[in-house]
Parts: sequence; C-alpha cells; structure tokens
Amino acid sequence: MAYLLALDQGTTSSRAIVFRDDATIAGIAQREFTQIYPQPGWVEHDPREIWSTQISVAVEALSSAGLAPRDVAALGITNQRETTIVWDRKTGEPVYNAIVWQDRRTADFCADLKASGAEAEVQRRTGLLLDPYFSGTKVRWILDHVPGARERAERGELAFGTVDSWLIWHLTEGRVHATDVSNASRTLLLNLETADWDPEMLKLLGVPRALLPEVKASSGIFGEASTPLAGWPFPIAGVAGDQQAALFGQACFDPGMGKNTYGTGCFLLQNTGATPVMSRNRLLTTIAWKTAGPVEYALEGSVFIGGAVVQWLRDGLKLIRSAEESEALAASVPDSGGVFLVPAFAGLGAPHWDPYARGAMLGITRGTTAAHVARAALESIALQTADLLEAMKLDASQELKELRVDGGACRNNLLLQMQADYLQAPVVRSAVTETTALGAAYLAGLATGVYKSMGEISSQWRADRRFVPQMPAEQAGATRARWKRAVERSRGWALE
Ligand code: ADP
Repeated sequence: MAYLLALDQGTTSSRAIVFRDDATIAGIAQREFTQIYPQPGWVEHDPREIWSTQISVAVEALSSAGLAPRDVAALGITNQRETTIVWDRKTGEPVYNAIVWQDRRTADFCADLKASGAEAEVQRRTGLLLDPYFSGTKVRWILDHVPGARERAERGELAFGTVDSWLIWHLTEGRVHATDVSNASRTLLLNLETADWDPEMLKLLGVPRALLPEVKASSGIFGEASTPLAGWPFPIAGVAGDQQAALFGQACFDPGMGKNTYGTGCFLLQNTGATPVMSRNRLLTTIAWKTAGPVEYALEGSVFIGGAVVQWLRDGLKLIRSAEESEALAASVPDSGGVFLVPAFAGLGAPHWDPYARGAMLGITRGTTAAHVARAALESIALQTADLLEAMKLDASQELKELRVDGGACRNNLLLQMQADYLQAPVVRSAVTETTALGAAYLAGLATGVYKSMGEISSQWRADRRFVPQMPAEQAGATRARWKRAVERSRGWALE
C-alpha cells in the first residue's frame, strides 16, 4: 500500500487529502482563509495565509490518517488557477497580495488591448481571450502599481508565480521556482505550441522574463519538500491547475472524453489529445497536462454561476435552508411552469463573455411558486452546461460520448437528470467525488512509479450512477430554444 498526499489549494479554502493507491481516502483536512475585497470588483488573498493554511492542513491530514511524513510516497499539488503572486526572491515575502482570478481590476487594460485588435493574435499564441480572468494583466498591474517593483523585476530580484509556484517555492525553502504546463497555460504568457514562455506576449503585456518560473511537466519531480514543517523530505511529483487535475482524476485520457465540475461555477473540459484545437466559438484552448509523452490539450468552457445559484436561493431569497433542500423543493413540481432564471449575476462566461449581462427571471405568472423558481434555478445550471457543450461540439472533431461529472452540486440527482435530458446524452457521476485532489495524487503517483501507466489509473475509475435522457428530444430542444431567448434578454443589461 502506498500513500499519496494531495494539496488542494482552492479559492476559499486549503485542503489536503491523503489517498491510498486504490484512490480511497485515508485522511483529510480543510481550512478556510480570508477573502479580501479592497474595492468593488477586486479580490485578493494574503499569500502567507495561503501557505500557512495549506501546510497546516497537510500536517493535519497526515495525522488524521495516522501516518508519518515518511509513509508518503509523493506529494501532488492542485490549485486555484490564474491567481497571481509576486514575491522577493531573497526573503520570500510577497510584494503585494495575491490577485485572485475573479478580480476585474484590469478590465480597462484588456478592453484597450481588444480595441487595438490584439485578440486574434493573443488567441493564436495562448489559446485564451483578452479577459482580466488570466494572470498576465494582473502581473503587469503589480509591476505598475507597487513602487520599485518593475525595476526590481528587471534586475531579477522578484519572482512571479501562480499558487502552485508559490507553494513549491515554500515547500522547497526557496530552492525551486517552477510551475507546470497546465498552470502556465492560464497566464496569457505561455505559447501553446512550444509550451514555453512566449516572447511576443511578454512584450505585449510588459512582463520581464526574469520574473518567470521554469515550466515543467505536470507529472515529474519538481523538487523535494524539505520544509521543517513537512518533517521528512518527499518528492513533489505532480502539479496541475484544479480543472485540469479534475480531468485527470476523472481519467479522461483519450481525445473526446470530457468532464464537468459543478462547484460555485461549472467547468467543462474536453480532452483533444496532442493537438491544440482553436475555438471558433469563444471557448478556451488550454494545456491539459504533460506526463511522459507529448503535451496534451483540452477545450474548456466555464460558467461563472453554477452551484452558486443554489446558494442564492438559500442566502439571498431564503427559499431553502440548505443547498440539498433545492432538490426536494424543485421535485415538488413537474416542471418550472414556464419560468426561466438566467443567473448572470457576475456577467456571463463562455461562450458569451458578457461582463455587462445581469440576472433575469422570465415567464413569471400568478401561478409561479417558490418550487418553480427552485426548479428554474437547477435548470439554469443544466442549460448553461448544455450551451457550453454545444459550442464544444462545433469546435472539437470528436463528439463527447458521455459526460463524467463531479463537484459539490453533482450530489443533486434531479440536476443530473435534467443535464442528461438537455444534453440528450448520458451523464455519469464518478464514485470518487474528490476528483481534483485525486488528479494531483495520480500525477504524483505516476511520476514515482506508484502507478505504472495511465491505463492502470483509468482501470481504477468507477461510476457511482449513470443518468440517461428521459425527456423526448423535441421537448428538450424546445426548452433550450426558449432558454436562449431568455439569455438574450439578460445581455448588456448593466451598460449605461
Ligand atoms: P467549490 O469547490 O467551487 O467551492 P463545491 O464543489 O464544494 O464548490 O460545491 C459547492 C456548490 O455546490 C455550492 O455553490 C452549493 O450551492 C452547491 N451545492 C452543494 N450541494 C448541492 C445540492 N445538493 N444541490 C444543488 N447544489 C448544491
């Protein structure tokens, strides 16, 4: 029996999970940390708190598993993506807070670049679009706003990293400044084809090369975790951004396989194999991972408000006391009674990318009840995902055979039935729900010989339950068409 320690550094909490090599969980610990909102639209984290919570849950997870550090074969890291940290190479002290992926402070800069006609070339080089979401414009902001930072960066005194790099730096006590290809592909600075930093993008965004970490494979030795808190040197052997890690944890290894994670937002990724597929439908092209073979790619679509619409039913409208109750309330009516809820609370993500869209509820009549609203809310999660998958179908050459699903909201059976209905394709919930952390553990285990091959990993994958379409195709199509009309009405609402 081998044990793998996965660090899962998320947006609201740091978690650590000890996996046995059969993918069962031996120990787990989690700690939330502070969300900092200095101004509307700005979101920051204290990088020191990211580190302190992460290392303490790692120690706790080991002790809850009754294990000592020496029992761990390897360590894997998965993390919130795009979040940007710049620190002093000598002291390890951050020069500014972490600027979180949700932060919109660089929207104007992105809009200017877009207006200058740069987006097509940016997409060709990086697979991404010009949106404040990605790291590149956040790094630039730090260099432009922290006194002396740009000069120090040019002299090589500072280091930039996404959260994976920050953790690796501290785990190795400053010896290793590295990232993996999947995290690097979210920065706007990486060339998708070469899987290395792109000089033209560095020039466009004004980011000095001396700041950047070394780009490594997702599965391979990054260095030894030697921090005194870790207590025992073990190899850091797997690193991937959270959504790519979940794709790996779901064993979507062949082109055409895909997964959707239903958390706060929804993230749909489809493996496209060794060739990057450029989206013509406003999806993102991203690096899935690199193991022993060539770099592999994925198409990605993200919805900003997924499970969060259920939080809004609970905390905003107070229609339910727990997220779980949404299922019973929605199931108490046979349909939404013609109500559509477009949860564009933070604008719309893929494939619309409309920061000015706002939430809308349409089709309300005197007969509308709380149950109809709850049902419309769950349907909005499934319908947004169906829109993503439609865009993906147009972009990818292989059609998705079935959709593997995970994340907090996928416990909701009614939601997954709706999903199968609107996709008119099977939806399969995996037995392990901690697929993100598991993906990091798998990447680390693969690099250290705990697993001999990806085939061995995919033979471990188990379904918990399979949902097949029950709604006639005609009815699903009619509902989706009506939904699209509702989405149209929500667009551009916040524009003056
Ligand atoms: P994240 O990793 O983004 O924080 P999780 O994967 O933990 O999210 O999922 C939490 C989200 O799932 C919340 O937005 C919550 O409202 C939603 N959720 C949790 N349980 C259910 C449920 N049974 N039905 C619908 N939504 C749920």
